[in-house]
This record gives sequence, structure tokens and C-alpha cells, in this order.
Amino acid sequence: MANKTDGFTATEKTIKTGLRASFLFVLLCGVLPSCAPDPDERAWSHQGRVMGTGFYIELVPPEGHHVAAELGGVVDAELERINALMSTYLPDSEISRFNRAAVHSPFTVSEDFCYLTRLSRDIHASTEGAFNPAVGPLVELWGFGAAHDEGQIPAAEEISGLVKTLDFAALDIQCTSDGAGEISKHAALALDFSAIAKGYAADRIAALLAGRGYRNYLVEIGGELVVAGVNRTGLPWRIAVEKPALMQGGIQRILAVTGGGVATSGDYRNYFEQDGVRYSHTIDPRSGWPVRHNLASVTVIADSAAKADALATAIMVLGAEQGQAYAERQKLAAYFLVQQDTGFEEKYTSAMEPYLAASQPGGQ
Ligand code: AMP
Ligand code: MG
Repeated sequence: MANKTDGFTATEKTIKTGLRASFLFVLLCGVLPSCAPDPDERAWSHQGRVMGTGFYIELVPPEGHHVAAELGGVVDAELERINALMSTYLPDSEISRFNRAAVHSPFTVSEDFCYLTRLSRDIHASTEGAFNPAVGPLVELWGFGAAHDEGQIPAAEEISGLVKTLDFAALDIQCTSDGAGEISKHAALALDFSAIAKGYAADRIAALLAGRGYRNYLVEIGGELVVAGVNRTGLPWRIAVEKPALMQGGIQRILAVTGGGVATSGDYRNYFEQDGVRYSHTIDPRSGWPVRHNLASVTVIADSAAKADALATAIMVLGAEQGQAYAERQKLAAYFLVQQDTGFEEKYTSAMEPYLAASQPGGQ
């Protein structure tokens, strides 16, 4: 079976990130006719589940190199370590304990937690509050968190009550030079790193692979990716952006990437419907309500997957117009699919153009 898009034929060697749905997927063989006849011999791959989603890793080692048998186990252990820090589903995770910690009492945190909190603070500031990991209680209130499995429209007073507690700036973050440190809350707030942690985990695995001297790899966790170098055919990694037709999928666009983090956020995968209105899991922290606009999805390429992940969520909050203006100001590579009466309109920033051009025939 083949998917036709933009004049390309995607091979059936498409990984649609396991069984789950995802906004981005990887074209393992690139696009025809570049697919090598027997590509599996060139690459090492590993997949599994973590953070309530699937992951897929592919490594293209140098010619003749034998990938150590223990590598899969090392990757799994690192992913489990990060999950044990960042999962709000685990009562004893670092984030759950931090969320229960008393106001004004310094809480000792790991290097990972310090890094993510600082990065979140920067992105919170640059997006004027659109990205806000303190949104956790609102995510719960709307039924998208760990405690609920069905969405519901909360009472207006409950929403406005919680909006007042989203003061991310009320965190005093003291990281030491080795990264670990202490964080104090100066107001009661609870964090949710769902919009950044998968990207961060992909970055950690990429660092692990780079630390072992590998140059060509792809790490994908729940549709958030890090890529480096080239794929098994010696070409840039081909990342397919999904068409936002509900449940039908298909390829909208192919991005050719040789380095960086790639992440997508969208409004049509995780939502509930009530009285014909769709309520998405992306919450506008300024109003306390799920976002409602015509931006169906946004894909961001940044120097790390954690940044791309957080920025994609933030731009989803900002919407198509403000989001594009923000991305242009930041010189960010961003690709937007905007719902119009006649279908989906594509928009992208100037920094995204090279990734699109390189995916065209003759572009590489
Ligand atoms: P993503 O799929 O990366 O866009 O992340 C969406 C998840 O992040 C949601 O399921 C919430 O748990 C959380 N979230 C929702 N709205 C925000 C927001 N404005 N800032 C940060 N995290 C959010
Ligand atoms: Mg995100």
C-alpha cells in the first residue's frame, strides 16, 4: 500500500509510531526511488512504550560497526528514569512530590527537573504565558489529566479560580553549576510537563547515542523527534507531517531534516465533544479554556526536541496569526495547517523553507 502526496510515493516502510496515532511519522526509506534494496542490514532499531505512548529509535552505524547488544536495555533504562521523574501518573515521581510540596519550602530537584523548569520558564516568558506547565490543575479540571479519563466542561467559577493559580513566575529556581538544585514555590502551583517531557526524553536518548559516538540516528517518542545525520540510504531523514483529516491520516508534507528536534501539536487527536463543540487538550492559560481557533496543527523544528515540543504547544495556544508572527520574530522553523472553509491551508515561516525545499525531488 502506498500513500500519494505532493507527487511523492511514500513506501510502505512508513513507521506510524507503532499502533498509536501521531501527527508526525518517519519515512524510513525516504521516498522512492531512493530506497535501498536491502536497507534493514544497515540500521539498528529499537522500539517500545513509555510515557503512555510508543517510541522508535533507529541508528545507522558506520560500515562494519556492530551495535552492542546491551544498547536497547540502556535506552529503556534511561527512558524509565525520565518517566519516573516527570510522570504525573506516578504518585512518587519527582514532579508529583514537587506538586505536593509545601509553599515556601525549598524542594531538592534533579538536574533534569532543574533543566526542564528553567527551559519552561524561558519559553513561558517568550510566549507571554501561552506555554505554562503550571496549567496542570486546569488540565485535570477539564478531564485531560491523570485523574480522569472523560472530558467535561467545568463550572465557570472553578475555571476562573484556577486561572489565578497559574503563576509560573512564582517559582524560585536555584540550579547549581552541575545542574541539580532547589526550587521553591512562592504560591501554590502544580506542574505538568506533558507538553515538553516527551521531547526532552528524545533529547536524552539522542545525547546517549551521540555520547557513544553515533552520528546518524532518529529518536521518536510519541511523535516528537530528534534526528541527526542521514538515514540508512544516506539521505536526510524524511519526516511526514500528517494530514489533519480526523482518523484518516495520510501525508500532507514531507520535511527533510539532518539535525534538530521536530515536534507537532494539534487540536484533533486528544479532545472531547459536547453539544457539537470540540474541546481540545491544549488549554489557553490566560482564559483557562481549551483553545478554539482554526489552527489544526503546527510543526516546529528547533535545536532540541524539548524546545520544539514546548514551542509547538505554545504556538497551538497562540493560534495561526499570532503563532506565525511569534515564530517569524523568533526565526523559528514552523509549519502550520490552518482550517479554512475549503480545506486546509498551509503556512510556514521563512526558516522552515529549507526543510521543505530539501524534501522536493532534486532538493538533496
Ligand atoms: P502537546 O501534545 O505537546 O501539545 O502537549 C499537550 C499537553 O500539555 C496537554 O495534554 C496538557 O497536559 C498540557 N498542556 C495543555 N495546555 C498547555 C499549555 N498551555 N502549556 C503547557 N502545557 C499544556
Ligand atoms: Mg508539546
